[in-house]
Amino acid sequence: MRREMIAATGNREKMVEIRQILAGSDIDLVTMKDAGLDLDIVENGETFEENALIKARAVAAASGKMAIADDSGLVVDAMGGEPGVHSARWMGHDTSYDIKNREIIRLVDEYCEKEEARALRHPGCEADGTPGPLRSARFVCAVAVVWPDGKERVVKGVLEGRINTRQCGKNGFGYDPIFYLPEYGKTSGEILREEKNRISHRGQAFRKIRAILEEA
Ligand code: IMP
Repeated sequence: MRREMIAATGNREKMVEIRQILAGSDIDLVTMKDAGLDLDIVENGETFEENALIKARAVAAASGKMAIADDSGLVVDAMGGEPGVHSARWMGHDTSYDIKNREIIRLVDEYCEKEEARALRHPGCEADGTPGPLRSARFVCAVAVVWPDGKERVVKGVLEGRINTRQCGKNGFGYDPIFYLPEYGKTSGEILREEKNRISHRGQAFRKIRAILEEA
């Protein structure tokens, strides 16, 4: 028998991505709109997992059906983990990613300069100019599924990278132009969408949750 699951997102891109990953399973994904839900969910968790659970719990409680939610963002070590769970709203929802990305580069450059002055042996860039270890960052995605009987599962995917010294690439969205992938020698804004889905934090997390759903 097929199962209905409500996706706790109003984002069309995300719906497409979740549908692609669940294709061929026994799950029919329903939008909140199609389920007649109009919820104002406050994402006030301190971790990606907490926020994904907050959203999935709210939708499962309101609908009496199985619900799925994700929460993702960019964690920059030189910025003490920011923008992190605040990635979407960091510097304000209406600020362009061109401005946000420039500001992250500026803050990481500033941090590297200070650290280099303190300990010259840890440069912010490798000898060939590619971003060095002081510029470490990661994309994180948590995905939660909550069943109407209260059962919950939450998983996480992580993609490690570095903050580039400039914006590169027109693929992807958000922080992709500054997220340098050392194994590719490119930013995630320069690699193809299929390649990004194969390695991304979101791809990893949704594939893990698919395996859980197939067993549940
Ligand atoms: P969410 O919709 O609350 O999960 O917000 C995630 C935010 O994190 C997005 O608005 C982006 O700013 C950032 N983000 C998450 N994943 C990616 C990615 O794959 N590329 C670029 N930015 C991302």
